[in-house]
Order: sequence, then C-alpha cells, then structure tokens
Amino acid sequence: MLARTVAPPPRPHTPSTRACKVDACELMTREGKPFCPEHVDVHPYVQNLLSCLANRQAEEERVRTAGALEVDIDGITARELVLHLSLHGARTVERIARELQLDTQIVRGYVAALDERDLITQSTTNRGSLVVKLRDPERCLSQITTFQSVA
Ligand SMILES: [Zn+2]
Repeated sequence: MLARTVAPPPRPHTPSTRACKVDACELMTREGKPFCPEHVDVHPYVQNLLSCLANRQAEEERVRTAGALEVDIDGITARELVLHLSLHGARTVERIARELQLDTQIVRGYVAALDERDLITQSTTNRGSLVVKLRDPERCLSQITTFQSVA
C-alpha cells in the first residue's frame, strides 16, 4: 500500500478579524470589516456621506446669505422641503423651519426658489406669517422621487 504523500489542501483561512486598512493602525477589525471603529470614517461610503452633508450645509449657508439663486432644486434640502409640504400640506415658514430644523432665513430662500418655479402658492396669516402650499403635491412628489439619489 502506498503511503499518502500528498497532504490535504489547507483549509481556507477565514479569519473573523483582520487588520484595519489604515496603514499606521494596528487595531483589528471585527467581522471582516475593512476598518476598525476608530477609522470607520475612512470608508468610501462614509466619506461620500460626509461630503454630501458638508455640501448640503455649504449650500444652506449660501442660501442664507444670497437667497434663492443658490438653491439646488434637485438637492437634498429642496427635496426635503417639497416632501415635507407634500406630506403635511400648508405650513408657515416658521413652522417649516422648526420642523426641518433650518434657519427661517434659509427656508425663505428655498421657498423663493420653489415660487420662482411656480410650484407653490403663498398666503399670509393674520399675524403676518407666510403660509406655503404646494400647487400640485402629487406631481411634486413624483418629481422628487424620480430624481437620482445624490448619495
Ligand atoms: Zn484603524
């Protein structure tokens, strides 16, 4: 009888931990993730998300100072406003600002941009607050949901 000379192939190495992809980092990651918790913000998805949030904030700051001209009508904030109005109906600018956690001045910029595109109607309460309402909520909603995600 021949002796078995061929060793069985080694079992595939499937470690549950591996080194963090950041070169200078010696921490191990869990469950095969590429980065340790310290460096998760290096991950491309997180980078992309952070840059979206930064872009959004930069846009809002430009709208605060320069108004409707700076509004990206396909951007996250404009879409969020349209979505909000389509779900809740008429709203005062102050209430929108509170509910979307935006500065009133910024909301006015977005409202002006929607008004330029004739997407809203505006009226005034007895106390002088501006009330905003979408002309055609259903159409607006279907429009914003067909935009490509920016994320
Ligand atoms: Zn790390």
